[in-house]
Amino acid sequence: NRRIVLARRPHGAPVPADFRLEEHAVPAIGSGEVLLRALYLSLDPYMRGRMSDAPSYAAPVEINGVMVGGTVSRVEASQHADYAVGDLVVNFGGWQDYSISDGTGLQKLGALASPSHALGVLGMPGFTAYMGLLEIGQPKAGETVVVAAATGAVGAIVGQIAKIKGCRVVGIAGGAEKCAYAVNELGFDACIDHRAADLAEQLANACPQGIDVYYENVGGAVFDAVLPLLNTAARVPLCGLISQYNATTLPAGPDRLSLLMGTLLKKRIRMQGFIIWDDFGHRYGEFFAAMSQWIAEGKIKYREDVVQGLENAPQAFIGLLEGKNAGKLVVQVAE
Ligand code: NDP
Repeated sequence: NRRIVLARRPHGAPVPADFRLEEHAVPAIGSGEVLLRALYLSLDPYMRGRMSDAPSYAAPVEINGVMVGGTVSRVEASQHADYAVGDLVVNFGGWQDYSISDGTGLQKLGALASPSHALGVLGMPGFTAYMGLLEIGQPKAGETVVVAAATGAVGAIVGQIAKIKGCRVVGIAGGAEKCAYAVNELGFDACIDHRAADLAEQLANACPQGIDVYYENVGGAVFDAVLPLLNTAARVPLCGLISQYNATTLPAGPDRLSLLMGTLLKKRIRMQGFIIWDDFGHRYGEFFAAMSQWIAEGKIKYREDVVQGLENAPQAFIGLLEGKNAGKLVVQVAE
């Protein structure tokens, strides 16, 4: 039973030495428990927050503790009435081959095109895109929606739902290949490389009617380019700030807080943060039904970046924070 633990808390960007691969005996189950073999491990940006002990909405991983994470697993042994050997489930098994559960938080997998989709388009990231855009963003046909990290697990779904709702969709992504994918495959109206020196000018040209909904995944320089383009009564679902997750100092000046607050006030902009399971967990069924239908109708495209082998999870996670992933990042832990 291999497991990857947090060896120490990263300073800035995580490095391989912040993680440690350990070998342990496969645990034995007791009455009412199941032994779960991880098949797929989801790698997600929030894990960077769990590696730090700064105050957050969830407790940090302990030093020498197993890294947390969502998994698709197969029941290998069962002393639980509701689960039989061979059942596929979604659980929060973490970065390890085997985990034990008493059934709390286990979710049986329905018929999916691929089990790993339960960690992406039909799981947490897809749900985040759906709720953040529709509930907080409130997009209306004809409006302009801008989404950052536009080809990632959340952003790609945000943009496609906005297209379904009849909006003009402008993505922001890292590099020409990702931008071409957003326009040619995902059907976005435009996509801009956030590393371009003239990002603000290109974004303004792509949004001639201003921005009505900005789905924030990134923060930093991207938000600086977005802020002057926000329309009166714009909505900003505040989903993530990935450009800041490795930061060790405050951003470079000048201080733009008064510019931000003045803009929110004068333009009556509504910016709202959310934590998907805490705020919307009770609506997962509604999301699952809607998303399943859109996929069946061919309205949502989905790409995964599948890394082979648990031992490669640390490097893949480091790459996620640098934009190296192409689509939803998952690790195939076993066949
Ligand atoms: P992605 O699959 O989009 O992967 C992360 C992407 O972030 C990278 O590929 C990269 O894309 C982009 N990125 C990284 N660093 C920077 C930077 N400095 N500036 C601009 N872009 C950067 O991840 P997810 O879709 O899983 O997550 C997207 C966001 O949603 C994250 O901020 C995450 O924390 C948040 N989230 C929030 C949830 C909530 O409940 N509030 C739930 C789930 C996710 P590129 O190459 O295009 O730059």
